[in-house]
Amino acid sequence: MAGASFAELGLSPALCTPLGELGYRAPTAIQEAAIPLVLAGKDLLAGAQTGSGKTAAFALPLLQRLSESEAQPGKGNGLRALVLAPTRELAQQLGQAFKTYGRALPRPLKILSVYGGPSINPQMLALRGGADVLVATPGRLLDLVEQNAVVLSRVEALVLDEADKLLNLGFSEELAKVFALLPKRRQSLLFSATFPEAVQVLAENLLHQAERIEVAAEDKPVISQRVFTVDKERKNALLIHLLKNEAWSRVLVFASAKHTCNRLIEKLAKAKIRAAALHSDLSQGARDTALREFKSGKLRILIATDVAARGIDIESLPCVINFELPRSPNDYIHRIGRTGRAGQAGTALALICPEEYAHFAVIEKRMKQRLERESVAGFEVKEAQADR
Ligand code: AMP
Repeated sequence: MAGASFAELGLSPALCTPLGELGYRAPTAIQEAAIPLVLAGKDLLAGAQTGSGKTAAFALPLLQRLSESEAQPGKGNGLRALVLAPTRELAQQLGQAFKTYGRALPRPLKILSVYGGPSINPQMLALRGGADVLVATPGRLLDLVEQNAVVLSRVEALVLDEADKLLNLGFSEELAKVFALLPKRRQSLLFSATFPEAVQVLAENLLHQAERIEVAAEDKPVISQRVFTVDKERKNALLIHLLKNEAWSRVLVFASAKHTCNRLIEKLAKAKIRAAALHSDLSQGARDTALREFKSGKLRILIATDVAARGIDIESLPCVINFELPRSPNDYIHRIGRTGRAGQAGTALALICPEEYAHFAVIEKRMKQRLERESVAGFEVKEAQADR
């Protein structure tokens, strides 16, 4: 897929730089379609699933528009952009994404997330002087409006994220109240995974001459994720078994520590499997050679830490194996995204031992996905530990 770069879509260098650091090499389909339209000030009705890169599709161009104008949130606790999200978790995540994407802007923007649950007072204090971007759940937003902690009459841009979920969770009355407080002249963007009638009615009421975009399913990366449970002391053996029996032309194995990489190389060598390591203790020369051989196909197996693997660009990688889990769910998503690029099928395996079950559940929660646990014949977890 030879799509446009982020810069070619019209984003400023201050917004493109952090994307490179995050390992975003090219815009996703939804980003390619949405960014120029949002930059041009259009209203948008976008069909996009979680995982499509939809957050950046609206956050990046909105940040650019907000940073281009000299306007300030100003007196009276005004807002410039309002993003409505159905859940506290999504509101937190979206606020964090805006901050990450906007971190290199020459004039820092004030970005806040508010949601029900925590006490309202700190949120009221934080909103003094308004905000450039407020991400909110609808109920808490209305509570804040009632307390005069926030004023919606000067909102320049509105985003409804996961509009179908907002309606499913019964927020339609709250939404109607919020819309009544917004100025008529504004940009509105509606993102939804599905388009039942209620979402279509919402879109008709909210949007003005909207562009409609939908991402074709084929454009999404096709990553098949599998999870194998195995006892800790049998992990090496399982890895060797898989590398010997599966026909992957190239495999990137992730370990969490440098010494695990080195130990694995030795174990594999004993099993007559050639592999190279990629971690920060190796000389630049050794790292370059490993990477070059891996890219050219001369080396089949590369065993890397997250730090060393960040930013490396390997096309058509059929398989990624998580030999150990990364601490952060983000790193996991980053790891598995190394395969299944450009529409090619890819496999991401995780080998998890009972000690890692709870942590893997946290990663799944973050991905909003629950994967079936499988075991490989001969490598089943021993009974005593199986239901820990
Ligand atoms: P979203 O659909 O917005 O929840 O994004 C899903 C994941 O994809 C997030 O972890 C993003 O950091 C990541 N992501 C978004 N855009 C890109 C991109 N262009 N390249 C690589 N990863 C991306």
